[in-house]
Amino acid sequence: MVVCFPGGIESLNLFFYIFRNDGFATPVSRRTFFDTSGIMAAPVWLLAVAVPLWLATCWWLRRRLYGKRGALLADGPPATLFVTAHPDDEAMFFAPAILGLAPAPRRLLCLSSGNYYKEGEIRKDELRESCTVLGIPPSQVTLIDHRDLPDHPSVEWDVVLLSALILEQIEAHRIGLVVTFDAGGVSAHANHKSLYAAVRFLISEGKLPKGCQVLTLETVPLFRKYASLLDLPVAWVRGPDVLFVLTQEEADRAKRAMRCHRSQLLWFRRLYVAFSRYMVINSLNYL
Ligand SMILES: [Zn+2]
Repeated sequence: MVVCFPGGIESLNLFFYIFRNDGFATPVSRRTFFDTSGIMAAPVWLLAVAVPLWLATCWWLRRRLYGKRGALLADGPPATLFVTAHPDDEAMFFAPAILGLAPAPRRLLCLSSGNYYKEGEIRKDELRESCTVLGIPPSQVTLIDHRDLPDHPSVEWDVVLLSALILEQIEAHRIGLVVTFDAGGVSAHANHKSLYAAVRFLISEGKLPKGCQVLTLETVPLFRKYASLLDLPVAWVRGPDVLFVLTQEEADRAKRAMRCHRSQLLWFRRLYVAFSRYMVINSLNYL
């Protein structure tokens, strides 16, 4: 195997090395380099420039976006209701928005106990623990355990029932901002997508109180989903209505919240916690 990369600048001419399996490096002219090894050199050359540039952009954006949070809440933090489908959704998907919207008063409405594997009772306690870590006290958490709203990846919940339960919370607590999934439901779970259908229904029927807005969490393609912070430049360029990115300290807190869901911490979820962009980035759009 031959590995090549640019070596430096000499009299304004780049000179290059060709590294061989025997460990020796042979300096060659630019012409020789591109003539004999151009195919391999181009990607390496690009990587040598692009990777540091991308990392620097991520670092700069993280600082810049954190500084802009104050402006987002300048008009007075709205009472916010996070609407989720299962215990752990709040930590797996919405932690950046929940932490980013502090000090706004935040509530959580979870529409099932997550009883797919008959662990509903355990998961109720885990939800309260996780919310406490995220700054939402148990008194601000409502969990609905309704037989017509089963935790199931292919069951679409009844939109009329759902929207009535959501509206009840909005009116009872004078909610100014609702945050939930978008049409893709992040993981394409049918229960997640039902929540989006329910808030859409409330809007189309004109049932939301005046001034109450809805933000939906953007579903991104798989290759972006597991890019962690490296997705930040792409998320920013796409220009969502609201973009939250957590500081390192906050990201650790989000992970701590996720660890409260002990019954769910299988090996693939541990990988999710390590690599998912939803543990550090939330891009949201108004509905
Ligand atoms: Zn879920």
